[in-house]
Amino acid sequence: MTQIDNLNFPELLTQVVGAIENLKSSYGEFATHPSMKSDQAKVSAVLEELTDRLENNFPYFHPSYAAQMLKAPHPVAVAAYLATMMLNPNNHSIDSSPATTQMERDVLKQIAAMFGYPEEFLGHLTSSGTTANLEALWIARELQPTKKIAHSADAHYTHARMSEVLGTTNVSIATESDGRMSLDELEKELKTGEIGTIVATLGTTGLGAVDPLAEIIELAKKYGARVHVDTAYGGFFKLIADNHLAPETARHFAALKDADSIVVDPHKHGLQPYGSGAVFFRDISIGKFYKHDSPYTYFISDDVHFGEIQLECSRAGASAAAIWATLKVFPLTEQGLGSALIPTVNAAKNWHKLLLDSDSLMPYQKPELDILTYLPRVDSLTKLDEISHEILVQAGSGSKAQQIHLATYIVKPEALQARGFKLNADAKNARILRSVLMKPEHETWVPALHNKVQEIARKLIR
Ligand SMILES: *Cc1c(COP(=O)(O)O)cnc(C)c1O
Repeated sequence: MTQIDNLNFPELLTQVVGAIENLKSSYGEFATHPSMKSDQAKVSAVLEELTDRLENNFPYFHPSYAAQMLKAPHPVAVAAYLATMMLNPNNHSIDSSPATTQMERDVLKQIAAMFGYPEEFLGHLTSSGTTANLEALWIARELQPTKKIAHSADAHYTHARMSEVLGTTNVSIATESDGRMSLDELEKELKTGEIGTIVATLGTTGLGAVDPLAEIIELAKKYGARVHVDTAYGGFFKLIADNHLAPETARHFAALKDADSIVVDPHKHGLQPYGSGAVFFRDISIGKFYKHDSPYTYFISDDVHFGEIQLECSRAGASAAAIWATLKVFPLTEQGLGSALIPTVNAAKNWHKLLLDSDSLMPYQKPELDILTYLPRVDSLTKLDEISHEILVQAGSGSKAQQIHLATYIVKPEALQARGFKLNADAKNARILRSVLMKPEHETWVPALHNKVQEIARKLIR
């Protein structure tokens, strides 16, 4: 089965490759150095071997892949990336990327506006959510060198790891039974006076839980702490929060405008290929921590080089071009990119309903975004672990067209108990099932996915 699409992708690729070749030849012909010459047939054979070897992958692009946080980029992003990559501008400095530095500024303005940030902010794209978060935590340390960084126990592991890199102390705050940071536990830590920055996650990577940002911001004000928000995965859900997420969830997305810093990954829900993160700071005066010898005012001038306000040096101008082009086609509105996110949330909601009525499966918790966790109806942790894994294996077997791909998620007996499950705790932890339903096509695929998983579960439980 091929993807049924309205775009003629090969035609778009021919268009951009042709246009860039023309651009290059407008500078006049030059002879390729003999050392760079290669044989057409040989290159073709190597590329054929490459595409054969790429068989060894899961079908991230297909709705039958309902496992980890992976999907293929949109063709517009691929074509824009390819076109720009042929010239290979480096968004480190304006001189090495006049066109794509401007595109990056445009893109940053749009994303900052989506979060409700003021017009003057400091921000830039990064190669990943990891580097973007590292940068935000580094600024946190520079501002309050003796203080600790607090994040929930379900925050991405990068925060604990980067605290190690930065030599800061991090404090893990327990979560409630909905996977959100416990405000009581957070306040206990804040009362010690040792917390400088609170990291809130809007959309945890495991469960898609949204930390109570509105209250976290109030607590931070009360105790003089800063707030960094990691929306690497969830940030673009801001587009649909008011009309398509639970009011409680929407309230926390609305509070993003008051965060001191925000990270979002266009390579998660922004239709981009990997190599696309972003970080934003509300207070432009933090620019002083980056400077080598430029005066502070340099950072608010229109001519700031991204290299002067980022930890990374070289960075692909192609990434900026790809997001820029994508946002022209899918603007940051509910009707634009939002229309690709609404069905992902519906997919999780609908599958959750089916699980509530199933005789052999049940939901682990109610999904807030597009991540669904679920488990077979068994009576002990040992069986839970075994059967969850077996469901994953059986679902992924058979012909390519029959396979569906799921992921697992490790839970502790206390976490199961907190959610009202009464299982014999005969193991330290157990795997349950997890599906990131991040493709809009998942909405129509949910009944088929559910039926297949349920059928396997029924046979295994019997
Ligand atoms: C994915 C993710 C990260 C890490 O980002 P990378 O782009 O994979 O480096 C950090 N935090 C959260 C919440 C994430 O989902």
